[in-house]
Amino acid sequence: MPDSTSTPLAPRVRFAPSPTGFLHVGSARTFIFNWLFARHNHGTMILRLDDTDVERNTDVSVRSIFDGLHWLGLNWDEEYKQSDRLALHQQAAQDLFAKGLAYRDFTPAHSGDDNQSSAQGAWLFNPGMRELSREESDRRAASGESFALRYRVPRGLKSGVARILSFVDGVYGAQSKAADEVEDFALLRSDGMPTYHLASCADDAALNISHIIRGQDHLTNTYKHLLIFEGLGATAPHFAHLPLLVAPDGAKLSKRKHGPVVSVTTYRDSGFLPAAFINFLCLLGWSPKNDLEFMPLEQIAALFTLEGVNRANAVVNFTDADPFDPKAVWLNAEHIRSLPVEKLASEIAPFFAEAGYNATPEKIAAITPLIRERIKLLREAIGAADFFFLEELAPYDPAELIPPKGGDAAMARRVLSHALEVLPAVTFDHDSLDKALREAAATLGLKAGPMFQPIRVAVCGRKNAPPLFETMTVLGRDVCLNRIRQAIEKLESLG
Ligand code: GLU
Repeated sequence: MPDSTSTPLAPRVRFAPSPTGFLHVGSARTFIFNWLFARHNHGTMILRLDDTDVERNTDVSVRSIFDGLHWLGLNWDEEYKQSDRLALHQQAAQDLFAKGLAYRDFTPAHSGDDNQSSAQGAWLFNPGMRELSREESDRRAASGESFALRYRVPRGLKSGVARILSFVDGVYGAQSKAADEVEDFALLRSDGMPTYHLASCADDAALNISHIIRGQDHLTNTYKHLLIFEGLGATAPHFAHLPLLVAPDGAKLSKRKHGPVVSVTTYRDSGFLPAAFINFLCLLGWSPKNDLEFMPLEQIAALFTLEGVNRANAVVNFTDADPFDPKAVWLNAEHIRSLPVEKLASEIAPFFAEAGYNATPEKIAAITPLIRERIKLLREAIGAADFFFLEELAPYDPAELIPPKGGDAAMARRVLSHALEVLPAVTFDHDSLDKALREAAATLGLKAGPMFQPIRVAVCGRKNAPPLFETMTVLGRDVCLNRIRQAIEKLESLG
């Protein structure tokens, strides 16, 4: 018989974004850590849209979340949205009310606001409402008065027996707080909609979530959630809170303060590979045992454990001039180099299409190996390879055509004119061009450098360009000869 004690049940985790903005890099990291935990432990990854806040939800935000997640390319196994589950939330509220664990609060205006404070300090509860008799409460409700439903948090002050709420967080360790310090939080708002606390816990219980992995900003909410799970008669899941992502000055990353750098789509549109972005986010708050930084996804999933998650806030380094953390850019360059050429070509193609180049898949496949070492962001492929597509080269300084170390315009002219003579008879492939142009250099009594530079600048319009023979092969004979002729004309302007 299998020994079930040695096989932990497969975990069920959820990522539960509220569609009130674009997909934040911190949310993406929460998603990724949940995904890694599920995959590492052969568990189930659930996506749940927390969309009960009808006033703040937008379709644009829902799209941005799905766009961002699809770009990451990490799949989930089950999908829900809370707005489809309102009956379940109402049932949970009823259940708590019937057990005497919740009461109606008829106080107008602030009824749904848990953070109301009074002159005495933090607001905990309104005794007038908490102690309203059931008859009175029913009568006022029946007369149509609106109310919020609040959790009746155990109070030990009177009896002198304080109830201590405690749990062991998977990252932050043992946590506890006296229930007397927790306010009677709302479960239903006065418009009848469930609050985040109620909807989230009712769903977590119904969906059998085993581990809640979420941002550290929810750590203190956990006490309220423990009370709800207890009230619903459900076993509380394990909790693990993730350290915050902060800016170099220590401030929490926010769109209002830090702009597009906190949005996942900014990384996508600037040419990060999903694998590199995921790799970067994983290192924000998680340290693998092997101390490696560059890692493919499979390796990260194999190594990922909650024990490796740190408590310290994770700093994302950026400046006004440079929006991306240098480590993210370095990782992206590494991932670009490690990707099979065909795959990299298909990642680069949309950037050319968007920039308006008529770039066939064949041509992109041909240039990809030539530029892969030269770009750190996919977007840079345009600048590195535009001369492969341009009808007319962008204007360049004819002085660039002059060979280095004592060359002059006359020497450049000799090189280019000779190239014009020999190239029509050369097959345009690496080896033939190599042989022909080295022989041409010998004929002119030149070393390779002074021979190649004028040709390189003539065909590419710049000195800093991919390897010459491969480049000429992709450009083809006609384009090369044309550009060399134009370069000779440019040299005339130098006199
Ligand atoms: N909808 C909540 C948020 O976006 C989920 C928090 C949680 O994971 O419980 O912050």
